[in-house]
Amino acid sequence: MIKKRVVLTFPHEVVSQPVVYHLVKDHNLMINILRARVTPQERGRLVVEISGGRKELEAGIKYLAELNIDIKSLARDIKWHENRCIHCTVCIPHCPTDAISLNKDTMEVSFDKQKCIACELCIPACPYQAIEIVI
Ligand code: SF4
Ligand code: SF4
Repeated sequence: MIKKRVVLTFPHEVVSQPVVYHLVKDHNLMINILRARVTPQERGRLVVEISGGRKELEAGIKYLAELNIDIKSLARDIKWHENRCIHCTVCIPHCPTDAISLNKDTMEVSFDKQKCIACELCIPACPYQAIEIVI
């Protein structure tokens, strides 16, 4: 049994399709949905743990790729460098779990490691390299 934690980004034309159902029924995979979000542009983002046999997993990933669903593996850990952060808030809309948030009273950004699922989505968004992957 292989277990993978991945971020799936759905193009808008696929958002309404029963993709998880097909992964379970047609590919015999177990799907644990950790986070789900649909943006105003109707791009869907799902953070899931997928478990199953190697062949089933490969077939399931092929099925996702055929639907033009972007698949990203989760990194091991994420570090936020408070000293590099200028609290510009650019990263906040990219975070599916609210691990990065803005205190509206102080207008300061903070990072909650407990909420971070290491999806890496905030990393390319930060212009100051204040967030990085720790291997
Ligand atoms: S990696 Fe970044 S975007 Fe992903 S959950 Fe952690 S803080 Fe949020
Ligand atoms: S994008 Fe970078 S600099 Fe801006 S708030 Fe997020 S971590 Fe801080």
